[in-house]
Amino acid sequence: MPRPISAVIHLQNFTHNLSVTRRHAGASKIWSVMKADAYGHSIKHVWKALSSTDGFAILDLHEAILLREEGWTGPILLLEGFFQQDDLKVVDQYQLTTSVHSDWQLDAIENATFTAPISVYAKLNSGMNRLGFSPDKYADAVKRLSSMSNVSSVTLMTHFANSDLTTGTDLPHQRIKPFIDHNYPVCIANSGATLWHPKTHYDWVRSGVILYGASPSGKWQDIADKDLRATMTLRSQIIGMHYIAAGESIGYGSKFTASQPMKIATVACGYADGYPRHAPTGTPVWLNGQRCALLGAVSMDMLTIDVSECQEVSIGDEVELWGKNLPIDDVAQAAGTIGYELMCALAKRVPVLYEE
Ligand SMILES: *Cc1c(COP(=O)(O)O)cnc(C)c1O
Repeated sequence: MPRPISAVIHLQNFTHNLSVTRRHAGASKIWSVMKADAYGHSIKHVWKALSSTDGFAILDLHEAILLREEGWTGPILLLEGFFQQDDLKVVDQYQLTTSVHSDWQLDAIENATFTAPISVYAKLNSGMNRLGFSPDKYADAVKRLSSMSNVSSVTLMTHFANSDLTTGTDLPHQRIKPFIDHNYPVCIANSGATLWHPKTHYDWVRSGVILYGASPSGKWQDIADKDLRATMTLRSQIIGMHYIAAGESIGYGSKFTASQPMKIATVACGYADGYPRHAPTGTPVWLNGQRCALLGAVSMDMLTIDVSECQEVSIGDEVELWGKNLPIDDVAQAAGTIGYELMCALAKRVPVLYEE
């Protein structure tokens, strides 16, 4: 028998979350962002549940090739563009839309031979200082791209660092506005902007984390009114139980010491499954309809929870680490991270079930 841990991917909730996203995006088209193998959910298994999207945005060329081989014929956007000149052969063969953020990429496109002109996204660095042309170089880059016979269309693109904040898109939006005219489509909104900044929607939005039912801000209460649903449940079982006296400690480093007698349970889930090792005592875990607290250090394969307040609890009981009953954001927040990181970090050794 395998260890009693598994992840369940709720495919119908992708379709639901896409319809919630659609409601917010209004008339704008949606790039469903599936980088990092669909935020840890597996592109191969989940893309069909999102196939009413207008396009898929990914990062790695092999993700794009997989989508084409799976039968997706719609638009595919390379969010970080191509990484070397040679990649343009793949862009051409698989009809990919590529973002362009650096001078060398302008030269590469100009010098390439395509079977048909390609669509490009010209990226502006509007203040995040990660990728993109600086505002003083942007107009020239856009002009150069649109004059190339190798290029069929240019879309204006930038990215927001603070779209979870009320005024977080103001400055970057201000910085791209001078370049927006009716000649070019515009695509600047990520999930946070899709939900909270309708003025940034323009022609296309790029929504990622909300399709996976988590909050762009990392806080579940910020999306509690949006009817977004969890797409990943991580669950396991209780494999051991103990009564401990006051003064007894739990786990590596004896990081938790009981101040009163306690009933505790050992769960078959640890950091080698993708559970955050830095989750502190008090991190919520779902058991038999209630929240229990994590106690002490998370081990490689196990963690311990407080079941003192649980009436009926026994070995074999199912435990939810995050998912349908316990928002991944709440677990992430307790552990000082964001839902994005937890879902992407689901470990290979965890068996995954895809539920229709
Ligand atoms: C990851 C990413 C997105 C999606 O971000 P979410 O916060 O998950 O919506 C959009 N655009 C770019 C360029 C990205 O890298």
